[in-house]
Amino acid sequence: MEILDAVVIGAGQAGLSASYHLTRRGISHVVLDANPAPGGAWQHRWDSLTMHDVHGIAALPDADSPTDDAGRANVVVPAYFGSYERDHGLPVLRPVRVDRVESVGDLLVVRAGDRSWTTRTIVNATGTWTQPHVPHYPGMETFRCEQLHTVGYPGAEHFRDRRVVVVGGGASGVQLLGEIAPVAADTLWVTRREPVWRTDDFTAEAGRSAVALVEDRVRRGLPPASVVSVTGLALREQERAAERLGAYRRHPMFTRIEPDGVRLQDGALWPADAILWATGFRPAIAHLAPLHLRSEHGGVQLDRAGTTAVADPRVQLVGYGPSASTIGANRAGRTAARGVAAWLDRRADGHS
Ligand code: FAD
Repeated sequence: MEILDAVVIGAGQAGLSASYHLTRRGISHVVLDANPAPGGAWQHRWDSLTMHDVHGIAALPDADSPTDDAGRANVVVPAYFGSYERDHGLPVLRPVRVDRVESVGDLLVVRAGDRSWTTRTIVNATGTWTQPHVPHYPGMETFRCEQLHTVGYPGAEHFRDRRVVVVGGGASGVQLLGEIAPVAADTLWVTRREPVWRTDDFTAEAGRSAVALVEDRVRRGLPPASVVSVTGLALREQERAAERLGAYRRHPMFTRIEPDGVRLQDGALWPADAILWATGFRPAIAHLAPLHLRSEHGGVQLDRAGTTAVADPRVQLVGYGPSASTIGANRAGRTAARGVAAWLDRRADGHS
C-alpha cells in the first residue's frame, strides 16, 4: 500500500498554493478535486461577473496575476489555474469528490466512492461554494414563485419586469441588486442587520484589522464570519443606477413569507415574483466529520499559525475563515505546507 505524505482536497486558489509549496519542499502528495476542470469555484461564478468587477485575484505563488480586465471571471480564472497546474506539474486528479476522511491509527484514509488514498496528513481546501446557506423563514415553503440562491444566479435579464426581493447584506447582495434593479419592475432589499457602509477609503490597515477579527474567531473555535462582513460595503460605479432608483434603501427582515410575497414588519404585504437569497456560504467540510474537529463552539479551532487543526495536527485547513480570500488562500497554502513538514519531521524524530 502506498502511503502519501499529504493529500490536498480541493484545487482552488488555496489547494493550488498548498500543492505548489508541498512540491517545493519535496513532499509526496496528490490533489483531489471534485470539479471536472480547473478553476475551483471561479468556473461557476455568474456570467456577468467580469475581472473588472472582482476585488482582485491575487497571483498564485511564483506566477503573474491574471490580467484580462474585460474578460469573464468564470473564463479567465479557470484558464489561469489550468496553465498554472500544467506549468508547475501539480499532481491534480479530477473529478474526485471526497466523501469522508477517516483516522486509522497514525494515518488518514481519504475516501471517494470506491477509491481511497492513505496519507500521513491532509490539507483541506474545499472552499464554501458547494455549501450555499439559506436561512429558514416561516412560510418559505408556501411561496408560489421562484426562490434562488446566488449560487444559481442566472443573470439580471431573468428578473426583467419582475418584483424581486434580495435578501442579504454582503457584497453579493449589493452587486446583484446593482444589476437587477435597473431591469426589474421593483426590488426590495432586506437584511438582518443594518448594513455597514465604508465611509472613508478602505485602507490596507483596515483590511488587516478585519482579517484579524476573523482570525481571532477561528483561534477560539468559533464558526468563521465572512471577511467582507467585517470590512464593510461600498458602491461601485456600476451600482449608481440602482442607487438612483432607491434600491439600497434597506428594510429589516420580513416577518414571514406568504404565497404571493413577503410580510413586512409594519404588517404590509410586499408582492413578489422572486426571492434571491444572497445569504452566503458555509465551509464545505462535511467529509471531515469522522475526525471530530469541531470545537464546542461550532467551528474548527486553528492554531496561532492559522492552518493547523488544534484537535488533530495532521489536518491543515486552508481557505477557511480568515484565509477565505485569494490573497489569504495563497498565504495559507504556504503556512499549511510548513505545518505538514513540521508534522512529518516530528514523526520522523519519533516525538509524536
Ligand atoms: P474554491 O475556489 O471554492 O475551490 C475549492 C475546490 O474544492 C473546488 O474546485 C471544489 O470542487 C473542490 N471541492 C469541494 N468539496 C470537495 C470534496 N468533497 N472533494 C474534492 N474536492 C472538493 N476573493 C478575492 O480575493 N477576490 C475577489 O474578487 C473575490 N470575489 C468573490 C466573488 C464571489 C461571488 C465569491 C463567492 C467569493 C469571492 N472571493 C473573492 C472569495 C474567493 O473566491 C475565495 O475565498 C477563494 O477563491 C477561495 O479559494 P478556495 O481555494 O478556498 O476555494
